Amino acid sequence: MRDHPRSAELAARAGHSLLAGVPMPWMTRWPGAFPVFFDHASGARLTDVDGREYADLCLGDTGAMTGHALPAVTAAVEERARAGITAMLPSPDAVWVGEELGKRFGLPRWQMAMSATDANRFVLRFARHLTGRPRIAVMDWCYHGTVDETLAVLDGDRVVPRPGALGPQVDVAETTAVVPFNDVDALDRRLAAGDVACLLMEPALTNIGIVLPDEGYLAAVREVTRRHGVLLVIDETHTLCAGPGGCTAAWGLEPDLVVVGKPIGGGIPVAAYGMTAEVADRLLKPMLEAEVDVSGVGGTLTGNALAMAAVRATLSTALRAEDFAVAVPLAERFTDGVAGVIARHGLPWHVQRLGCRAEYWFCPPPRNGAEAAAAVDEELEGFFHLWALNRGILLTPFHNMALFSPHHTAADVDRHTEVFAAAVEELLA
Ligand code: PMP
Repeated sequence: MRDHPRSAELAARAGHSLLAGVPMPWMTRWPGAFPVFFDHASGARLTDVDGREYADLCLGDTGAMTGHALPAVTAAVEERARAGITAMLPSPDAVWVGEELGKRFGLPRWQMAMSATDANRFVLRFARHLTGRPRIAVMDWCYHGTVDETLAVLDGDRVVPRPGALGPQVDVAETTAVVPFNDVDALDRRLAAGDVACLLMEPALTNIGIVLPDEGYLAAVREVTRRHGVLLVIDETHTLCAGPGGCTAAWGLEPDLVVVGKPIGGGIPVAAYGMTAEVADRLLKPMLEAEVDVSGVGGTLTGNALAMAAVRATLSTALRAEDFAVAVPLAERFTDGVAGVIARHGLPWHVQRLGCRAEYWFCPPPRNGAEAAAAVDEELEGFFHLWALNRGILLTPFHNMALFSPHHTAADVDRHTEVFAAAVEELLA
C-alpha cells in the first residue's frame, strides 16, 4: 500500500468493473493484497505504475521470453498496423514464417492459431479425425492451456477432473487417458486398448516445476506410440526454452505434430502447429472437403498479417542460437546460486533447469507430476514471491520459475541469489 499507492488505487477502482479486479483470473495469483499494475517494460526490466523497477524473471510466463519490446518487433508491428492488420487473406510474411518454423523444428507443413490452447485443440481434433479413435492421452499433472480434454489427472487408476477445473464440459474419463510421466510400461498398457488417437505431451513437464525425462524415456515413448498407431504431439510452448527448435531439435525427437505458442510473436497473440509430410497428406483431403468454416478449426483473426509480421520479426532477431548462447549461461548461474543456498542450509529442495528456464521446488527432484504436485506449498511460494517482488524481482506466479533472455545480466542473477538466500535465512530464523 505504502510502496504501491497507484497500484492500490487502480486495484480498488478495478474491483467495481472487472471480476476480481483483474482482466484475467490468473492475475489474482500474484502475492499481496492486489497485483502491481504494469506501466512499461523493455528487455529484462519492467516498471510498474508507481515507478518501481523490477528485474523481470517472469517474462509474462514465457510470452515475453525474448525480452520485452524488441525494437524489430515494435517496428514491424507498427508498420503492419499502419498497412492493415487483418483481411482473411494470406500475407507474404506467412510464407517466410512457414519456412522458418520448418527449418527450426524439422517438420515441413505448418498452420497458425491465436494461442497455444487453440493450436492444441485443433491438433486433438485432427488426431481423432485421422485415427477414428475417441480418446486423447496426456501426462498426469500436465498443462496444455484451457483445453477441456487435458484438464484431467489420475486418482489411483481413475481419470478425474483436475482439481480447480471449473464446470467440466464432458466427463474427462470419457475423453482422456492419463499416464504418469517417465513410466513407459503404464503408457504401453494404456495405449494397447486401441482407443487413443494421440498422445499430447511436453518433452519435459514445465507446469508442475520442471520434471526432466529419464534417459531413453522419450525414445521409448516414440516406439510405443508408433507401435500402437498413436500420433505423438509434442507441445513446445514452454520447452522452446531449450533452443531455437525446442527439445524437438535439441534432442532429436520425431513427433508427428508439434505445437508452439507464447513467445513466437514477441508478445502478439499467435501460435503455430507443424506436422510431418505424412500427416499433412492424410489431413489435406478431409480438411479441404470438410465445411472448413465450421470444421471446429479456425479463428477469424488467426494467421492475420499483424501476427505474421510479428512472428517474422521475432524469429529473425530473437530465439536464435546466439540468443540462447547468452540466456542459457544466465539460467545456469541462477541454478548454481539457488542450489548453493539449498545445500548450505541442508534443505530437502531442488532447483531444475531446461535451457534458459529454471525453477526451484520444495522436494528432491521428482520423476513425475504427482510427486511434484505433492510438494506444492502455496503459502511458502507466496512468501518467496512477495519477498522477491518487494526487493525488485518478479517471479512467475504459481511457479517458482525464472526465465532468462539475452537482456538479463549476471548482476540480475546474483541479486536474485542474494534475495533468495535472505528469504531462506528469514524463514529458518
Ligand atoms: N501449452 C503449454 C505447455 C503451456 O504451458 C501453456 C500455457 N501455460 C499452453 C499450452 C497454453 O498457452 P496459452 O495460454 O497461451 O493458450
